Amino acid sequence: MSNSYRNVRPEIYQFNLGKFRITNILDGYFHREDMHPFTATNASAPEIEKIAKQHFLPFPKLEHNFVPTLIETSNALIAFDPGFGKRAPGPSAGWYNRLLEKTGYSPEQVTHVVISHGHPDHIANLTTDGTPTFKNAEIIISRTEFEFWSGDSPIPDFRGPTRKMFQEVVVPLADRCRFVEPDALLVNGITALNAFGHSAGHMAFHVESEGAELMLLSDTIAHFAVSLANLEWQFSMDDNPEMAITTRKRLVEMAASKNAPVIAFHMPFPSVGYIEKTSSGFKWLPATYQMNI
Ligand SMILES: [Zn+2]
Repeated sequence: MSNSYRNVRPEIYQFNLGKFRITNILDGYFHREDMHPFTATNASAPEIEKIAKQHFLPFPKLEHNFVPTLIETSNALIAFDPGFGKRAPGPSAGWYNRLLEKTGYSPEQVTHVVISHGHPDHIANLTTDGTPTFKNAEIIISRTEFEFWSGDSPIPDFRGPTRKMFQEVVVPLADRCRFVEPDALLVNGITALNAFGHSAGHMAFHVESEGAELMLLSDTIAHFAVSLANLEWQFSMDDNPEMAITTRKRLVEMAASKNAPVIAFHMPFPSVGYIEKTSSGFKWLPATYQMNI
């Protein structure tokens, strides 16, 4: 790994949505050399190379960002998928706790931690050295997701460490958890959306304040260019690729029809944009200044 993680880059981004304050934090990134097949297992390498060229991306190199969201409402501070924490596999990730301090929020102020799903980049920071990182927070997770990883249903070999981490990190916190179903109201203005497929009980979220809307797509889309170019392409990290495609079509259509901003955990920082419907598919339009004007 190069030392490029020392480069100065934007790491925190804030904007208001109605009366809510939204903060995106760059927990970090991985650099990979396998844009194909990582982003689309059932596409050909030349197909992905073509998409990369269209977006001026250095195929087959890839930067995969990790972007947790915090939402401050009138009476709650909700941390969605608060990153790797101390369990980060290298220095280019695990920045969340350091950057949270910079925002002016403290871990003790967090009232709810919402877990979209049980993969390591989304759960690892729930504890630090064996104690809860967010001491006063209720943890919200889909019941389906919790039952899947805490049980012994069959998983591919590469998900063994995922289950092990889930059982180490999340299961001991079960008495702090609120288990929810899709469409549950999490706090006023924030509703869970069924996004099953990326994992067994994966959730996305709809946020609304004073009529202003936002969708958090979690891992429904994994790469800003590839995932939206062809909704039939399968992401290598999807646990149930067929179900993930059905979900992606439904939620991408919903996001495009709303004219509302979208955040998704692995979009390039600051991970805020719009999904535009084009004649051939969909397109990610990164937000510029419209959120802060
Ligand atoms: Zn992820």
